[in-house]
Amino acid sequence: MNRPRTIVFLWLLISTVLLASPIRVINRTDNSEAEIKTLSRVSGTYFSAKGLAEVLSSRIFENEKRQKIVLYLGDHRIKISAETSFIIVDEQVYQMPAYAITEGQDIYLPADAFFPILRMTVLPGLTYDSRKQLLDIDVVEFNILGLTIDEKANGTILRIRTREHFGEGNISTFKNTNGWFYITIKGGLVDTTEIKKTDTRGVIRKVVADQLGESVQLAFQLRSDIEGHEFYENSDPSEVVVTLRTPLSKSAARIKEVKNRWRLDTIVLDAGHGGKDGGTRGKYGTKEKDITLDIVKRTGLLLEKNTRIKVVYTRDEDVFIPLWKRTKIANENNGKLFVSVHCNSNPNRNARGFETYLLRPGKTDDAIEVASRENAAIKLEDMTNKKYTELTGENLIMATMAQSMFMKESEDLAAMIQTELSRKMKSPNRGVKQAGFYVLIGASMPNVLVEVGFLSNPTEEKNLKKAAYRQNIAQAIFNAILKFKESRELVLAEG
Ligand SMILES: [Zn+2]
Repeated sequence: MNRPRTIVFLWLLISTVLLASPIRVINRTDNSEAEIKTLSRVSGTYFSAKGLAEVLSSRIFENEKRQKIVLYLGDHRIKISAETSFIIVDEQVYQMPAYAITEGQDIYLPADAFFPILRMTVLPGLTYDSRKQLLDIDVVEFNILGLTIDEKANGTILRIRTREHFGEGNISTFKNTNGWFYITIKGGLVDTTEIKKTDTRGVIRKVVADQLGESVQLAFQLRSDIEGHEFYENSDPSEVVVTLRTPLSKSAARIKEVKNRWRLDTIVLDAGHGGKDGGTRGKYGTKEKDITLDIVKRTGLLLEKNTRIKVVYTRDEDVFIPLWKRTKIANENNGKLFVSVHCNSNPNRNARGFETYLLRPGKTDDAIEVASRENAAIKLEDMTNKKYTELTGENLIMATMAQSMFMKESEDLAAMIQTELSRKMKSPNRGVKQAGFYVLIGASMPNVLVEVGFLSNPTEEKNLKKAAYRQNIAQAIFNAILKFKESRELVLAEG
């Protein structure tokens, strides 16, 4: 035996006995173990497609002449062809870095390339350990199921269907400078085949879904820049909703139109409650409807005396005005700002201070509680000719979306009102909050709702009974409106 022959012999021995050891399969669904035949090549381990089909109890279709095998797994169909690097899963094409090869009546697939595709598309519970040649199959279901994109006049809505609830703590969003927007969902397991089927429209050019360890990343290529984005949770149906706001087009005519539309020439002041709806009531008998009307009138007087801004009151006397009618009055008068004034109430008599609300799904129980109290006035309305859509997550998201072009301005105004109130008052600044208020829905202008103080707090009630105290509040709201007008005009001058 000469030396080269010995080497060839040893090589053959090693490749057949050591390198071509089968892939061991542990199936956690029934705790069974099995093996899949392999071939060893310089580029790595190749396994038998028929062997995999057997292990997965997959129905297969063979076309020997065309060297094709189709695996059926549940509703999924995986097409494998010999001598190509392409795999087709449910009409989606995936490319492997190596070719599938023919051996006998079987097709062998590169293990390191194929199993990740299978995991991403059909079997999220599958893990393959390349070093140990161990395939572990567990019953795990995708929880990120699909994506729908809706196009609206002023933005695009992304709805990610999920199997379970994903809260704010699990979701992060990010826009990079190259025109991509990312949503990362911690604990998500994404059905990438479903995401690939998404019809892209609106500001979305392309969607790419990636499973990054324990997180899912959805990457959206944008057709144009977005002005901002909002995130909402919806529990029934389970979905994560993200709205992307797009800026108004920038043609000269459009800018002029926008400038005129935004010129702050009319302000709508809305005194909460009125008539048969007294609102909340203090221990000493003070009625919210009287306090709000007085503050609104004082604010209006300051505006009329010191500016050329037209003031529209939704009510200037003690009458009942339905909530829906208040925004209607505001829109019909071409209002450029809508400020609704209210007094707060809380079972805890120590609660005190002032807060300003934006129309958006409520974030805290306290905020939702305030909104449901303020919304209670609809029960007093004649419901025969006007129906309210229920303020469920879905409807509220739509209502908020319809106002999204005013969102930034509403936020600015709310922040300015809080700042000016804290300058004038000793009671605590409770900040800007958000919840679903009927009185703000449908307003075609920046809009906020101010809770100036707690009638349930005896000290604040006493204060609110004082004319000087109410004048201070009116002055603060007036100052905030002026600040807002100045900042707005600055922006318009730059445009
Ligand atoms: Zn109220």
